[in-house]
Amino acid sequence: MSHLNRKVSNVDVLVLGGGAAGFAAALAARRNGCSVTLIESQNCIGGSRTATGVDTFYGFYTPGDSPRRIVGGIPWEVANRLVEVNGCFERPNTYGAGTGITYDVEKLKVIYESMLIEAGVTLLYHTYASVVEMEDGTIKGVAIANKGGLTTIYAKYYIDATGDGDIAARAGAPFELGSPEELQSLTTIFFMANVDVDKAKMTSHKALAKLMKEANQSGQYNLPREDGSWHATPNPGVIQTNMVRVTGVDATDPFALTMAEIEGRKQTQEYVRFLNNCVPGYENAFLVSTSQHIGVRETRRIRGAYTLTEEDVVQGAKFDDAIACCGAPVEDHYAGSGTRWAYVQGDGVYHIPFRSLVPQKVSNLLVAGRCLSATHGAQASARNSAQCMAMGQAVGTASALACKTNSNISELDIFQLKNLLLEQGVIL
Ligand SMILES: Cc1cc2nc3c(=O)[nH]c(=O)nc-3n(C[C@H](O)[C@H](O)[C@H](O)COP(=O)(O)OP(=O)(O)OC[C@H]3O[C@@H](n4cnc5c(N)ncnc54)[C@H](O)[C@@H]3O)c2cc1C
Repeated sequence: MSHLNRKVSNVDVLVLGGGAAGFAAALAARRNGCSVTLIESQNCIGGSRTATGVDTFYGFYTPGDSPRRIVGGIPWEVANRLVEVNGCFERPNTYGAGTGITYDVEKLKVIYESMLIEAGVTLLYHTYASVVEMEDGTIKGVAIANKGGLTTIYAKYYIDATGDGDIAARAGAPFELGSPEELQSLTTIFFMANVDVDKAKMTSHKALAKLMKEANQSGQYNLPREDGSWHATPNPGVIQTNMVRVTGVDATDPFALTMAEIEGRKQTQEYVRFLNNCVPGYENAFLVSTSQHIGVRETRRIRGAYTLTEEDVVQGAKFDDAIACCGAPVEDHYAGSGTRWAYVQGDGVYHIPFRSLVPQKVSNLLVAGRCLSATHGAQASARNSAQCMAMGQAVGTASALACKTNSNISELDIFQLKNLLLEQGVIL
């Protein structure tokens, strides 16, 4: 058979991208009775949560003195699986993003895979979703590229969980994409081992920032971000950092993304040199790994039936078609050396509406995760990982409902969807 344009038999739901959102979407659609194939360009499930090395779930709890858990369902099941394998711990966040759940990335990879395989999702790694075949505003098929050549997969419903909204954009759904200067910065996460963690903890976050500033002022170091952070991991002597800052990059531009990977690794060497030489506790530490994919916070935000705004976030807006709750603050890693924070007022919680996951102009497509329909400021809150998984569960369940009733996404009975989500442990 030719390796060009092979046709593959239909599935009910095709999920493009296996990050936090795609994982939960595939699992929910499968558990609700659909046949599901999940396409992932890398070699594991998790996206930013694993391949990028971001090892702390935020968004499960509201920030502040009396944290409330506001995310249940599949995301909470994942957290419990991590507890079962002694793979995580809870920690208060110094910036006030709320209680985080820090985990062992390798254990999470296995948990994500096990849950999908147990449910019967078909996984395809090392595979890029590329060209979209359209007919009258409906996706007919998506061509995928991998070692087997080009193949088209046909499905009834499609879920774009690529983070970048690749499929929605190619299907002709409108989207917003800031200029490279407006987009949030990228970060190469790195892990160091042999750190004297107790000693390192004696340098406060403020004191570390001062050391970074002094190092830059000495002319001997070039650290683009002076408020970077680090934290202990479940593995003794191993720490994870969020220090590197690569700005002015549109990560949907493959050339710019390549340069960002190169710049991120270069900066990593500089931060490691700084930590080794200037920060007590790091004298004998060494770099163990950089993330296999640079961390991308923001690219396309698909324009949906509703666009979540920063005002909605800060005012704690509630919606009739709520599919998830969020209490995480706006955390805007804008270009430059700082980060802008804005907190949710009122009862500290806002809703993510289902309409922000329904792209305009394409009838059988849903999106989930960081490419949801939101303004720049709102996305800087809703992109937290617990919410991305919650959005995934919502769209996976919605596509299963649409499948059962053979209906268009826009015709879905929202109250039926909400009831099903509530039955399946979702907190609304
Ligand atoms: C540096 C950094 C630090 C962060 N810190 C935190 C934190 O501490 N706590 C927190 O809760 N959140 C944090 N976040 C945010 C959070 O991790 C992400 O917003 C969230 O995980 C995004 O999930 P997603 O599934 O929408 O997208 P992604 O994680 O980007 O997943 C998308 C997946 O799709 C795949 N893909 C992309 N295009 C294609 C294609 N065309 N074909 C096939 N596959 C494709 C990718 O390989 C990837 O696996 C951080 C993010 C970054 C970048």
